[in-house]
Amino acid sequence: MRLVLVGPPGAGKGTQAQFLAEHFSIPHISTGDIFRANLKAGTDLGKQAQTFMDRGELVPDSVTNEMVKDRLTHDDVANGFILDGFPRNVAQAEVLRAILAEKKTPLQAVLEFSAPDTEIIARLLQRAEIEKRVDDQEDVIKRRLEVYAEQTAPIISFYRNEGLLISVSAVGDIKDITASAISALSRVAQ
Ligand code: ADP
Repeated sequence: MRLVLVGPPGAGKGTQAQFLAEHFSIPHISTGDIFRANLKAGTDLGKQAQTFMDRGELVPDSVTNEMVKDRLTHDDVANGFILDGFPRNVAQAEVLRAILAEKKTPLQAVLEFSAPDTEIIARLLQRAEIEKRVDDQEDVIKRRLEVYAEQTAPIISFYRNEGLLISVSAVGDIKDITASAISALSRVAQ
């Protein structure tokens, strides 16, 4: 299963990605997690990403695309992967399509998690209390939602046009959401 997850920050992509990764026995690749791990380890990549992440902006494509391209060369993606947080704009979606076309392993589905803005903001503020992520401050959250609407939401029609889009509501019980995602994906060729 080669899968991309898309949805606004706070939609629960990370949580659902973990369950889906377990279900399909494939790796969960979160670009946000990779950036945060690099930040923590003080690598060059982490330093390059930090100013953008702190402001809620996208890390430049030149940095992000290379990182993903490299990650997709690892042996563990032989049976598929779940990409969470990538692509985040149409240019990244085009790069991903090219990388996968070259390997002759195109995407099989793009799962969109949708939730109303009010729900999203409430969840992100609650997460800020618990996780103390720098980018969960209210003004940064606002910027991340703007960036999502302006830059990331257009990939939804991109993937709808490619016939890959599946939408699932991200509101409700976590287990029910996983179940609807798995049932929607079972209709996709594997
Ligand atoms: P969210 O909860 O907003 O989905 P993530 O953990 O996916 O957060 O990402 C956190 C931050 O990492 C983003 O705001 C952005 O700065 C950076 N980032 C993650 N993925 C990408 C990407 N594909 N392109 C550019 N920047 C990214």
